Amino acid sequence: MRKQIAAANWKMNLTLQQGEALIEALSKIPHDLKDNQEAVFGIPFPYLIPIKNALGGKKNVFIAAQNCSDKKSGAYTGETSAEMLQSIGISYVILGHSERREYFNESNELLSKKVNICLENELKPIFCCGEALAVREANTQNEFVEIQLKESLFHLSAEQIKGFVIAYEPIWAIGTGKTASSAQAQEMHAHIRSVFATQYGADIANSISILYGGSVKAANAKEIFGQPDVDGGLVGGASLIAEEFAAIINGLK
Ligand code: PEP
Repeated sequence: MRKQIAAANWKMNLTLQQGEALIEALSKIPHDLKDNQEAVFGIPFPYLIPIKNALGGKKNVFIAAQNCSDKKSGAYTGETSAEMLQSIGISYVILGHSERREYFNESNELLSKKVNICLENELKPIFCCGEALAVREANTQNEFVEIQLKESLFHLSAEQIKGFVIAYEPIWAIGTGKTASSAQAQEMHAHIRSVFATQYGADIANSISILYGGSVKAANAKEIFGQPDVDGGLVGGASLIAEEFAAIINGLK
């Protein structure tokens, strides 16, 4: 059974004290994780260790960095390497978020290098893909997302792709309050799975967790996560509110 994941993306929000208060508040709200379910917290770099400590090694709860360098080590002032993240016990790295693609010019090619360096350091990428509104309006979203996946991931072996985590995040739905309908999410997730099936076979494609991201909240999580090819969500704004994120975790199927 493939993994279901509720992943928080705090982005560049919260002070450390606010983050700790959020974790404390969340711990007081009942939320359950079954064996095949995970909660992942995508945290700003300075808080990775304190928030990991605040979470206290709870079962099926993991920490993600929101980025890492494509370089191994050396004179790259301000960068953080995959090896550094591994050395402090981080499990996941969010890669290719649309904000990094747009504001930091991250290309499919650069992301393929980041994917490689994460895997070399036993970090699991949460690989984001998704189209802008103009692409959706031109009805070319399937081809657009397929190119993102091919150019960044298809050099990987079947063994490396097995159990991979993808986040489909239509840019027009991120932070806008506009959510893709559950039918639109299902249609794209099924397409993504079929792209992997063509390249790697059905078994590998069925092992991949495909998360939906874009204005997920307590009120819509259950319906979106209930779609057969939706395996959870990557959540921005609503992950900053304890009650919302607890309900989103409980919305995993
Ligand atoms: C995100 O940034 O990954 C995201 C999905 O944000 P939001 O939930 O706020 O739309």
